[in-house]
Amino acid sequence: KVVTRFAPSPTGYLHIGGARTALFNYLFARHHGGKFLLRIEDTDRARSTEPAIAAIFDGLAWLGLAGDEEPVFQFARAARHAEVANQMLAAGHAYKCFATQEELAELREQQRAAKQPMRYDGRWRDRDAAEGGDKPFVIRLKAPREGETVIEDAVQGRVVVQNAELDDMILLRSDGTPTYMLAVVVDDHDMGVTHVIRGDDHLNNAFRQLGIIKAMGWPEPVYAHIPLIHGPDGAKLSKRHGAMGVDAYRDKLGMLPEAVDNYLLRLGWGHGDEEIISTERAIELFDLPGVGRSPSRFDIKKLESINAHYIREADPARLAALVAERMPPLGDNAAAERLHRLIAIMPELQPRAKTVIELLEGAAFLFVARPIPVDEAAAKLLDDNARTLLKTVADRLRALPEWTLEEIETVVRTVAEDAGLGLGKVAQPLRAALTGRTTSPGIFDVLLHLGREETLGRLDDQAQ
Ligand code: GLU
Repeated sequence: KVVTRFAPSPTGYLHIGGARTALFNYLFARHHGGKFLLRIEDTDRARSTEPAIAAIFDGLAWLGLAGDEEPVFQFARAARHAEVANQMLAAGHAYKCFATQEELAELREQQRAAKQPMRYDGRWRDRDAAEGGDKPFVIRLKAPREGETVIEDAVQGRVVVQNAELDDMILLRSDGTPTYMLAVVVDDHDMGVTHVIRGDDHLNNAFRQLGIIKAMGWPEPVYAHIPLIHGPDGAKLSKRHGAMGVDAYRDKLGMLPEAVDNYLLRLGWGHGDEEIISTERAIELFDLPGVGRSPSRFDIKKLESINAHYIREADPARLAALVAERMPPLGDNAAAERLHRLIAIMPELQPRAKTVIELLEGAAFLFVARPIPVDEAAAKLLDDNARTLLKTVADRLRALPEWTLEEIETVVRTVAEDAGLGLGKVAQPLRAALTGRTTSPGIFDVLLHLGREETLGRLDDQAQ
């Protein structure tokens, strides 16, 4: 049975690369009817923070990528990691090393001078631990020195390292704390992880981790090291490219989670030229051979266009709620009334908006207090001729027995015809006066959704 895991270090926000790793692990597990687990690698006590842990859970929940079981916290398992190190020691797969910091610094200096690669030379590998007495020691892996280690990586293909290049790494520090390499391997084993899908910046670690796995005689997981995400310029994705926490895609950019998932899926995995792929379909299709081997480039325009698609498809009530969350709080009745109006206007806004922010901007005209602010471009449309026209429109609207789309449309069209003008010549100043902007939903819908009283009020404000 397939078990995958996402194992972030909570030293910062959940970034877009991490979210994609989580998504691939989630989809792979679901595709195979397996489990997707979460592990918080909080062993770096100085850099791991509670807010970062909270941000990771929040981001994953938003993207629909919560783990199938309670998350595992790595630091809490330190005693288990030490136990395995001691087991390896007892079995002769590891040894105590009493080399002091000064000794090791000297060794590094010699290697530097000789232009040799810097690595531990195994000086305690074959010595009797009794010689160390009660001095502090670390436990090191007794790594094979001959032969090679091979990884048949599901993404990178066959990758080989000469064992002579891998030194006897530390498993347990002199203070008894486990190293990261040991902790990862023990946790993956104990969690029953069958497939390790992660960024290819961990490929080198995989060779070292395999040394521990082999020494313990544990089953080797399938590795899939996925290429990192790069910026549009080809350099590794950084803040400069807008690399932000996943929460910023929601809060600052106004993206929908299904759009982010869809975009991240397509960023590094493909199925023909299908662009729009729902999570259900992704579960059906996702596999490791479809993961590309070259770094993918982050493209915010692409994400926006995918988001625009999901905005068009989304339920107006859901979008209205997302927009309302971004508006000032109101009492219960007023909030319900506002939500109602938002739901009604949503279908007019959806075809034009790429983000929830744009929906918010599009709906804002409904809720501004009179006299409404008019932006510069809109103000230019409101010259004396326009004001005269607006006065005529207002007078005719006032006389309407009913406030329906058809009636409103007839009035506006008639005013234009009577003045010998195209519809736009009336619609534009009307839009400027009613929304304060030069773009909005269709002009008749603007009037309809504003209602008679508010429409006439705003027109009167301009006539003065
Ligand atoms: N904690 C590591 C990271 O955040 C991932 C380790 C792993 O996936 O094996 O990059």
